[in-house]
Amino acid sequence: MDKVNRRKFLAKFLLCNTSLILGSHVFASCSEEFSEDYIDAATGESISGKLKYLPIQNENPAIVRWPDKCEKCGDCVEACAEQQKVFGTYQASPTKHVCIHCGTCIIKCEEGAMTEKYHWQDVLNAIDNPSKIVIASISPSVRVGIGDYFDISSGSFLEENLVGACRAIGFDHVLDTNFSADLTIMEEANELQKRILEKIDIPQFTSCCPAWVKYVEIYYPSLLNHLSTVRSPIGMQGAMVKTYFAKKKGINPSNIIHVAIAPCTAKKYEITREELTTDGLRSTDIVITTHELALMLKRRNIKLTAQRGNFDSFMGAASGGGIIFGNTGGVTRAAIRTAYFNIIGTNPPSNLLDLQQIQGLTGLKEAKVTIGTITLNIAVCYEMRNAKMLLDQVKNGTCNYHFIEVMACKGGCVGGAGQPSGSGTIEKRISALNKADAQAVTRFSHENPEVIAVYRKQLGEVGGASARRYLHTTYYSKANLL
Ligand code: SF4
Ligand code: SF4
Ligand code: SF4
Repeated sequence: MDKVNRRKFLAKFLLCNTSLILGSHVFASCSEEFSEDYIDAATGESISGKLKYLPIQNENPAIVRWPDKCEKCGDCVEACAEQQKVFGTYQASPTKHVCIHCGTCIIKCEEGAMTEKYHWQDVLNAIDNPSKIVIASISPSVRVGIGDYFDISSGSFLEENLVGACRAIGFDHVLDTNFSADLTIMEEANELQKRILEKIDIPQFTSCCPAWVKYVEIYYPSLLNHLSTVRSPIGMQGAMVKTYFAKKKGINPSNIIHVAIAPCTAKKYEITREELTTDGLRSTDIVITTHELALMLKRRNIKLTAQRGNFDSFMGAASGGGIIFGNTGGVTRAAIRTAYFNIIGTNPPSNLLDLQQIQGLTGLKEAKVTIGTITLNIAVCYEMRNAKMLLDQVKNGTCNYHFIEVMACKGGCVGGAGQPSGSGTIEKRISALNKADAQAVTRFSHENPEVIAVYRKQLGEVGGASARRYLHTTYYSKANLL
């Protein structure tokens, strides 16, 4: 860990220990003086350099600003406005702040004055409650990100250590969210094929990044029909844990605390969405970031590298397609693999597995893919400044793409705000997930034996009534937030 990141880590650790005294929800005060002059949404005048800080509200489910540590440098404001195109689009005030929960401001703040809202103590409380079954589901990027907190070389693939550490902390079950990444691909590839055949609502937008989904809901509600209706992998995982897993293990779902361990701050917001409840229960109860997991390990004196473990054998298997979800372009690559299989009946040739054109740290990439008689124009981007260009094209009728993947974070989830940041780390994590994909038992979501089993035992047909009930969702305009 470099100097800046170690400082941030220690600063956050200190804050977390404060939270142990005050309770796990410690909110920043917005009572500091705030100058209305900072914003000029009406004139469109550049706001960079005028603003001092972002007026994060206490009810923000994902992000906290710590006034005592804030030097009012304005870096977070600039990042929010320039990279994510959020700040400056509305009239902010001490009590009004619009947020898509991407966490870019956290990455930008070198003082550790912006953090995720901490929920790790809630997890420890649940683990210590004997009446609760506490289940962890781990996202792909966490296994290649957590090492940076422990001076292990960046991009190390620490899946076994991570699972072992979660068991040592006291989780009753440890599952792989990549299982649901494969489910996402099954549904999303099917949806794409249907849209292409029926010529409706093209391009299809990916829907696995909740920050991006909220951006469309706020700023482009007329384009909501382009968003894939499939839930994100964590959205699906929660639904499967509270139904399929609970039934298999004979657990009352209301006794389950499902914890998603993610690289992401926006997932803390996503799990509060009403549309993602399952049979009346919240699908995922708590989200903690990679950073919070590292804090828990330190709190419980657990040495990451000394732990070894394997995922549960039920909902613990994934394909290479699921593994690369953490990378920019990964969702698209996995979807093309399964779409090809669905249309042609065989797995795609090797040149369609990697699609180099849509990999790497370029904010907007494109590719043309031919499957039988169908040619797909594809765009892959990250950060809303790039997504906005595509949204404007769709809105004014000049967009020629059939499929658009959008992630809020640079490089995709590997660069999420809940991960340690540092020079060169994102590239190394991308390589590590690609290597794991290349070495996977199968690289195709449709060949994951656990995915085949869950459709046979619970979900029925891909895209069928039961699959739609548990694996799909709905979206609503949030234009009123502006
Ligand atoms: S970047 Fe950090 S220190 Fe600077 S204004 Fe934002 S919260 Fe404060
Ligand atoms: S989380 Fe994202 S949208 Fe919210 S204030 Fe930070 S940069 Fe802006
Ligand atoms: S890109 Fe990934 S980590 Fe970043 S906000 Fe979206 S889902 Fe979360």
